[in-house]
This record gives sequence, C-alpha cells and structure tokens, in this order.
Amino acid sequence: MSARFPTPVPGCAVEGAVEGADARGWALQVEELCLSFGAARTKVAALDKLSFRLRRGEIGCLLGASGCGKTTALRTIAGFLRPESGCVHIDAHCVASAQKWTEPERRGVGVVFQDYALFPHLDVAANVGFGLRRHSAAERAQRVRAMLELVGLPGSGARFPHELSGGQQQRVALARALAPQPSILLLDEPFSNLDPDLRERLALDLREILKRAGTTALLVTHDQYEAFALADRVGVMQAGHIEQWDTPYRIYHQPATREVADFVGLGAFLPGIVEHRDGQSQVHIELGTLPIRERTDQAIAGAAANVDGEVIVLLRPDDVVHDDASALHAQVVRKAFRGAQFLYTLRLPSGATLLALVPSHHDHAIGESIGIRFDADHVVTFDVQEAAPTRH
Ligand code: ATP
Repeated sequence: MSARFPTPVPGCAVEGAVEGADARGWALQVEELCLSFGAARTKVAALDKLSFRLRRGEIGCLLGASGCGKTTALRTIAGFLRPESGCVHIDAHCVASAQKWTEPERRGVGVVFQDYALFPHLDVAANVGFGLRRHSAAERAQRVRAMLELVGLPGSGARFPHELSGGQQQRVALARALAPQPSILLLDEPFSNLDPDLRERLALDLREILKRAGTTALLVTHDQYEAFALADRVGVMQAGHIEQWDTPYRIYHQPATREVADFVGLGAFLPGIVEHRDGQSQVHIELGTLPIRERTDQAIAGAAANVDGEVIVLLRPDDVVHDDASALHAQVVRKAFRGAQFLYTLRLPSGATLLALVPSHHDHAIGESIGIRFDADHVVTFDVQEAAPTRH
C-alpha cells in the first residue's frame, strides 16, 4: 500500500508532489521514484514507484530486507544517484525530477554513512567543523562546542577518531552532519557497526538528540527494533516500493499486507471464518470466536474479499495468553528463554502451530499441555489468496 496524495504538482512531472504554500510542513516528498541498475537482461529495478512524505521535525525510517532498495533510496534523495522518473522535493523545492536537478551539496542534506567516514587525520573538532568553512572561526568553534554537547561528547574536540569507541565515533559523525543545520539528515544503517546492546541504547539516544535539535531525519535499516525505537513513521519496503508507510504501532498491530505482517515481528497465520450478524462481525478460529471490534481496513478487506467468509488470521505472540482456566489446550513444542518471558511454540489440536509470550515464571516442559486463550484488542485478517507459508 504505497502512499497516495491527491494534489497536483506545479513544476514537477509527477502527480502528487506539492510545491509552494501547499508544501508547508513537508520537509521531504518522494513521489514515484524509479531507478534501475544494469541494462537489458541484467536490469534490476532498485526503486519502483517509491513514494512517501515526511513532515518537518519527523523521523522516518525505511525498513526492509537486504536488496529491497533502501540505500538506493537514500542515495537518490541525497543526490548521489539520478532517478529515471519520479521526483524528490526537499522543503518544498523540487531537487530531482525529469526537468530539475540540484547538486547534492546544494540540497541542504546531511548524511551519516554506515562507516561514519570520519577524517582520521583530523581531530574531533575539525571533523565536526568540516562543513562550516563559511563561518567565522569564532562561530565555528561555538557551533562545534554546541554540537559536541548535543551528542553527549563535551570537551572531546582535541581527540582523534582512532581514540574513540565505535559509539563515540558515531556521535561525532552525527555532530558533523548536524553542524551545518541540514534541512534533512539521512542515516544509512547508523548502528550496523555496533554491538547489539549498544544499538538499542544509542537508538533511543539518537532519537532524543534529533528531537532536541528539531531535525527531520530519514534512516534506513533492516532491523525492526531500531526502526521502532527511533522513528515516528516507518516505511516497510519490498522490491523498491513501500508496502506500508505508517506509525510503528500500526505497522506491527495493523499490517496492511501479508508481506508486512511476515517481515515485522513474529506471528502465526491461522485459518478463520468471518461471520457478520446483527451489525456485528466476528471471526471463528481454532482458539475460539474473536469479535472484530475495531473495523480495520485489513479486517474488512479480509472479510469482504471472500464470499464464503474464509480468511487468514494473524496472531502475534503477545495475542496469545497462557491461562490454566482455559478449556483450550496446546502442546509446548519449543521454548526460548528471553529473560522476563519464554517464547513458546505451541501446537494446537489441529496440528497448527502458534507462538505465545509467557512470563518466565511459567516454566513448562516441552511436550506439556498448557491452557491458552486469545487476548488482543483487535483482529487482523487477510484474504486467503494472499496466503503464504506461515512463519514460526
Ligand atoms: P542492504 O540492506 O543489503 O544494504 P538495500 O536494501 O540497501 O540492501 P540496495 O543497496 O539499495 O538495497 O540495492 C537494491 C538493488 O539494487 C539490489 O538488487 C542491488 O543488488 C542493486 N544494486 C545496488 N547498487 C547497484 C549498483 N551500483 N550496480 C548494480 N546493482 C546495484
């Protein structure tokens, strides 16, 4: 489900992008970008009608598997690659389209590269002040100081990159990119060189820094936890386009397509039958009858698309609750200790399997039968035609 925008585009070939007064509030508009690599039989469509928009001050994230086009999207927005069609607007100005082209250095874009790309022979202060050559020495020194304070490295201007940890180098790269006050900051897998413990902490720190600076940012990652920790809006990419552009909560709880549901989070897909009666909708699955309270697009699409009412129901591990009093039992076939919780793989009487997150003081052995019930405030269903192998 790629984003669709109705307003016409003055001065831009693609329908949807807006310039001038209409564009106030949008820091970045990406409209139907197409870009391929190679020629003829070896041609790869890296971007295929990629569209999304970011408001000023928002943090967006392109999330997707390796090869889905994330880096190509970032490089095209930065101006390192030319799109074949489509357009990019930054702060209401068209910077790339069939008619217009703005050089990367004139786009007001800051980039934090995957490997940080710090200059090894320059100290931290010179690295951070690199993009401030037009400023006076006093202004530059003041801005470098402010940036180092913002990223939590005050007083480290005289150190050299090799004297810093990976996390500290990343902060310096961030300070350098933020120093010229870019309209947009682009970050390419900013945590990929860091160990997993540090990643989550730095993702939260980075969000705080960007929000404090009021910077609009777009990052790309294949790590959903990073995307969820950092972003206001996440675009799940597949084969060069966006499947869903939404808040992290909705991406997880109300995935628009089977592909999004499959890529984001764990879950199982069970067959169900939808029934509409007296204005109420419900779906029958092996775990019981679930009311469709919140009439989500997905639930309706899933229910309406099939005349005989058959659907596929998404069950997240947190939708399945262990309950000794429940009449429904399932057998533990696998368990993974996750500290506060166990992730159980359970087999239902029909042979279907599902996942359940259970507090870790409920320690059950493999083979044991435990009571379970469904507990969620909404049901997500998909058309059976969309069915793909269930992920466990
Ligand atoms: P990763 O997470 O592995 O970095 P990605 O989602 O960033 O992947 P891209 O690097 O944008 O993906 O690549 C998208 C597609 O374009 C891939 O099929 C890739 O092989 C291809 N591609 C990217 N750069 C080039 C290039 N310079 N020449 C040819 N093909 C390329």
